[in-house]
Amino acid sequence: MNIGEILTGAGLKRTKQREALLELLKNADKPMTAEMIYENTKNMSRSTVYRTLEKFLEKGIVTRGVVQDGDKLYYELACMGHRHYAICLGCHEMRYIDVCPIHDAKVSNFTVTGHKLELYGYCDKCAAK
Ligand SMILES: [Zn+2]
Ligand SMILES: [Zn+2]
Repeated sequence: MNIGEILTGAGLKRTKQREALLELLKNADKPMTAEMIYENTKNMSRSTVYRTLEKFLEKGIVTRGVVQDGDKLYYELACMGHRHYAICLGCHEMRYIDVCPIHDAKVSNFTVTGHKLELYGYCDKCAAK
């Protein structure tokens, strides 16, 4: 998926900052909060990051989700489809799970329209403690 096409497809101008934010979300190996996104950008003010994310949300380019504790909002690229996470109980780090293990699950006399799945455990760092 081309970053520039995502922007033009949504009717947004292609700017360096917007492309940089989308690139960041595309390459993320875990769901990112606005604060994490800000920390990973260069030469971008916090307010620009937040404003741009709002714009993306409005256009449906990114989705915003709440995971676990409910006090943190995470942003993801909408075109990546749904994804699952493994969450560390020690440091609350999250990782994407590459596969969807229940994608093909069938329930008799029932039409499945969606699902949620979170794995819990400990990352290498926390497991070593
Ligand atoms: Zn951990
Ligand atoms: Zn799934």
